[in-house]
Amino acid sequence: QYLARIREYQHLNAFVEVYTDEALQRAEAIDERLTNNQAGRLAGLVLGIKDVLCQAGHSVQAGSHILDQYRSPFTATAVQRLLDEDAIIIGRQNCDEFAMGSSNESSYFGPVRNAADPSRVPGGSSGGSAVAVQAGLCHASLGSDTGGSVRQPAAFCGVVGLKPSYGRVSRWGLIAYASSFDCIGPITRSVEDAALLLEIMAGHDEFDSTVSTREVPDYSAQLDWMAVSGQQPARVGYLRESLESEAVAPEIRERLGQVIEQLRADGHAVEPVEMPLLKYCLPTYYILTTAEASSNLSRFDGVRYGYRSEDTPDLERLYKNTRTEGFGDEVRRRILLGTFVLSASYYDAYYTKAQSVRKLIRQETERLLTHYDFILSPVTPTTAFRIGEKMDDPLQMYLADIFTVQANVVGTPAIAIPAGTDQEGLSIGLQLMTRPFAEKELLAFSKYVS
Ligand code: GLN
Repeated sequence: QYLARIREYQHLNAFVEVYTDEALQRAEAIDERLTNNQAGRLAGLVLGIKDVLCQAGHSVQAGSHILDQYRSPFTATAVQRLLDEDAIIIGRQNCDEFAMGSSNESSYFGPVRNAADPSRVPGGSSGGSAVAVQAGLCHASLGSDTGGSVRQPAAFCGVVGLKPSYGRVSRWGLIAYASSFDCIGPITRSVEDAALLLEIMAGHDEFDSTVSTREVPDYSAQLDWMAVSGQQPARVGYLRESLESEAVAPEIRERLGQVIEQLRADGHAVEPVEMPLLKYCLPTYYILTTAEASSNLSRFDGVRYGYRSEDTPDLERLYKNTRTEGFGDEVRRRILLGTFVLSASYYDAYYTKAQSVRKLIRQETERLLTHYDFILSPVTPTTAFRIGEKMDDPLQMYLADIFTVQANVVGTPAIAIPAGTDQEGLSIGLQLMTRPFAEKELLAFSKYVS
């Protein structure tokens, strides 16, 4: 059924490769295990994975020309854990090149289209993954979130997107964009599905030293907010700006206002909060992530992986021509910016300063989260915009992440949950953010709210 739907919805461009035969063979093998009562917990789950997650024997390209012909010799830990529980991977999904973008227009494989209105973007960078769930092309997807790339497309497509705490899920086998921000997260139809996938993927991994050794709760069995909270009302802060600012679309503010009223009516304490440092989140994010990206992407040199230019009269030009031809505009822009902020004369003015600001943002957010269990906000200032609308203005595009980057700067978990549609039928998403490693509370409260 999913294979047929993928063909039917090919125009959305959600998948870059579909593993038809392999998926069918696996399904048959799992059927047999089911008859023998030996199947894993995910038997029957059909999963798509963003084209930044490695799977042994399969191509992985990060939506880029530079990884043409590259095949991964190993499998990402998160993917392996889902496979071990008998998930079926149906294919790899289109995304912005190297996960850089907010609209899925920077992919070498062309833009992904929003299933609700194919003239609009699905959000990015995990756009293919979100659309695949939205259009029913698979049960669930795995995306990656460095500054909002799971939550923002989930919001634009009316599905659930979870960014776990930094260090909750191993990054082994995830093509790095900005290593101190990157998180793998599920995109699903329901909070229950997100909880189940997280519980299977999360936890210690000897291949990634930044993964926490904390025990992984059985999130999927603890989704009753009243039980999790011990019948206590929640303390929720919402960003005053997000309810009042003209920069946020009126229908999104209206929806946020309704949810706040509903929560109050249910006895929860909901109060406006100020985040004076919010305006520094985006600049901090773009300085630090481009710096990390410029270093991470230096390995794509035409020698070790994938594509090599035809025009290689000497080593210098082999590097230069391969990278010029292999990377798209947005990736080149970020490598240049990152190299600049790391250069000897500007290192202190930009990189060191951004590190200090990151620390302040972390402190301010942690302080807020001692007073509040959750911070509620929109996921995005607008609903899905038109394809092409923001392509010529990268700064406008970066604003799409104004509410999402904070969680990555700090390392806290955050979730996007669908909250209805606007008059044009475009999805509105709400975000809940909480303390690091409080995914259990986050998931239970999200289920309660949604
Ligand atoms: N849209 C943001 C960016 O362009 C976030 C990307 C991401 O989370 N991978 O960097």
